[in-house]
Amino acid sequence: MSVEYFYEALGRKIKRYLSGFIGLEDLQDEVVGTIHPPPPRLLVSSSPRLPLSPSPMTLFPLLQPDLVLGGSVLDLTLEILERNQIKGLVLDVDDTIVPIGIDLARPELTRWVEQIKKIGPLWLVTNNPSQVRIGAIAESLSVPYFHSAAKPSRRKLRQAVAAMSIDPSQVAMVGDRLFTDVLAGNRLGMFTILIEPIVDEESVIGFQAIRSVEFAIARALGISLAAKK
Ligand SMILES: [Mg+2]
Repeated sequence: MSVEYFYEALGRKIKRYLSGFIGLEDLQDEVVGTIHPPPPRLLVSSSPRLPLSPSPMTLFPLLQPDLVLGGSVLDLTLEILERNQIKGLVLDVDDTIVPIGIDLARPELTRWVEQIKKIGPLWLVTNNPSQVRIGAIAESLSVPYFHSAAKPSRRKLRQAVAAMSIDPSQVAMVGDRLFTDVLAGNRLGMFTILIEPIVDEESVIGFQAIRSVEFAIARALGISLAAKK
């Protein structure tokens, strides 16, 4: 298999995967329109099947978080946000601010939200379809929200950022998932922050498995997931 063919096939696979939950019309502009293969390299290899050491940073930059926090959302401080000129935040909900299935904000989260509001407006944008549950969490934190957002679609994120009247580059998209939160935020030109999930003994193991698979794919695509402080 040639290097060009490998990347073309990979691009088709990713596009098919993403189009399943974005919708093709939302995809066609820039997500995976063109994947530029690195220039072929002369390699001496006993295995002709896989290209060796492509420079994958160019492969899928939309999956690269601007900041990998290496801690939960509670470790995201005003100082970190100010250093990155952030003026507003969009927060994912499930596993970012509350464990999946939990519908009450813990007191430490409520205190964190009160602190973070000093930086600017804050919205919740989640793919979760439960208006009752998400509405209750948002109400307890006194923040506006969108549920059923279908990230990595940008639609709801764009509406939330527009409501803030802040340039997307100065709004942080904070979430635990690469293929929804980070991809959607980067597509809109937001500042993307990948956080560790809020741990809870009742966390659903399946979702952690999906996250691990996403991380493995991203690393194979050359995405750096090492935490930076
Ligand atoms: Mg999440």
